[in-house]
Amino acid sequence: MAVGKTTVGRALARRMGYRFYDTGAMYRALTWLALQKGVDPRDETALTQLAQHSRIQLLPGTDGDEGGLLVDGRDITSELRESEVEASVSPVSEVAGVRRCLVAQQRELAQGGGVVMAGRDIGTVVLPQADLKVFLIASPEERAHRRQQELLAQGKEAPYEKVLENLRRRDRIDSQRAHSPLKPAQGAEVIDTDSLTLEQVLERVMKLVQEALCR
Ligand code: C5P
Repeated sequence: MAVGKTTVGRALARRMGYRFYDTGAMYRALTWLALQKGVDPRDETALTQLAQHSRIQLLPGTDGDEGGLLVDGRDITSELRESEVEASVSPVSEVAGVRRCLVAQQRELAQGGGVVMAGRDIGTVVLPQADLKVFLIASPEERAHRRQQELLAQGKEAPYEKVLENLRRRDRIDSQRAHSPLKPAQGAEVIDTDSLTLEQVLERVMKLVQEALCR
């Protein structure tokens, strides 16, 4: 089964009346912009400058609204899952200057609380003082199936093997990078979602929320 952090995060925020932010969209947006402008995804200086000088606006998902992403005022939400973006997003996300810039913006978004934020370094780097940190795990095979279904729903054919390989490659880079490698935060609650439905994952997370709020 296995459900993703975006689905869980969005549903949780809806139940709590919180705003939901999917930070992966910001890294994808910068990658999209770099590709548009012909910036080499390995040119750290150019990527850092691009992050500093572009307006990447992550719009929150709320109860009646899916949220989205604007780059310099243009809505590019539907372009963020393109395979070109997918292929370059991990190297772009490795750049320290890019992370500094986007993390600062994410902290701004979380000011005042009432927020569910999803991303690989939220508990470790962006919001280490969060009231509750949850680290969802799922096997690469389950995640590849899910990603393939998402692509199919958008009318895009993608061979399972290719989706799986792409995902494994991103995982490898994301967990081995020098800056903010993917790992559970200290004190994070780890939930293996492989054999759970969305409702079951939500039930567990809601219980943890109750406990965290009463601490
Ligand atoms: O979560 P999503 O698949 O949209 O993330 C795309 C990529 O963005 C990840 O593979 C990772 O390289 C990067 N990312 C990150 N830090 C985050 C969110 C995403 O480095 N907080």
